[in-house]
Amino acid sequence: MKDNLQKFMFEHAGVRGELVELPNTWREILSHQTYPKAVQTILGELLAASALLSANLKFNGTMIMQIHGDGPVRLLVVECDAQLRLRATAKLAPDVEIADDASLSDLVHQNGQGRFVITLDPNDKMPGQQAYQGIVPLDGESIATVIENYMMRSEQLDTKLWLAADSEVTRGLLLQKLPKIGGTESSVEDETEAWNRAVILGSTVKQQELLDTDIDTLMNRLFWEETLRVFELQHPEFHCNCTREKVGNMLKMLGEEEIKSAIAELDKLDINCDFCGKHYSFDQVDCAQLFVASTLVDGVITPSGSKH
Ligand SMILES: [Zn+2]
Repeated sequence: MKDNLQKFMFEHAGVRGELVELPNTWREILSHQTYPKAVQTILGELLAASALLSANLKFNGTMIMQIHGDGPVRLLVVECDAQLRLRATAKLAPDVEIADDASLSDLVHQNGQGRFVITLDPNDKMPGQQAYQGIVPLDGESIATVIENYMMRSEQLDTKLWLAADSEVTRGLLLQKLPKIGGTESSVEDETEAWNRAVILGSTVKQQELLDTDIDTLMNRLFWEETLRVFELQHPEFHCNCTREKVGNMLKMLGEEEIKSAIAELDKLDINCDFCGKHYSFDQVDCAQLFVASTLVDGVITPSGSKH
């Protein structure tokens, strides 16, 4: 069984919807990392939300969602590319006890300093081009409301999300009111009514029901009275794009002195990818090469790219 993402439209209503279920992706992520139950819930919900938002983007690149926390959870990261390939990880403060029923605020917004960051990183960046980044305070009591508030604030899009995650699966439903396009026959009142009706129907879904029910059944159960246009089923999957070269670049950014003193102490540097658990080892020679190579390149090519 594959993971599934189903897009649909309410005919003549200016409302789009999506359902996603990620049992395989989610179990793969959890096979590399162990989190307390409350952390598992918010990371899983962020994963489902990331697939739902990415599927609506016409953008060739990776969407990175991060929550920078000021409590026992320091960082949540979820990435989704244009092919709906996902990876996720969380970093916790050392030696913390996290209650099963800890709220989002308890975990990442204890002192009101939590931040929600969305980055759109294009695949084919021009030299010097920066990724788009939106940073907002963590406004909301759940992952769903944080994203709803972000979408309203930064995109002016009415969006509703229902998300649920446990150790087996993460599932989500998204409804979004499409911007009014001139020339359509329906009035603003009709469109508002259609939106409200869709949201009322979506709101009948229970958290446990989201965890227990496949998306095909959910769509029929929630919207059986509506005329829906259903698009081709998509299949999100787990993928980690870590490479030895990227890990090497990360080491380089720490600086030659830092790496030299670490390698003198440890003999070799062992690094595990936070996302997929893959192991990378850099011995003394590998570390020395990191800096030799960069010196050579710098010696040959000036910042403008012309050769000497
Ligand atoms: Zn990896």
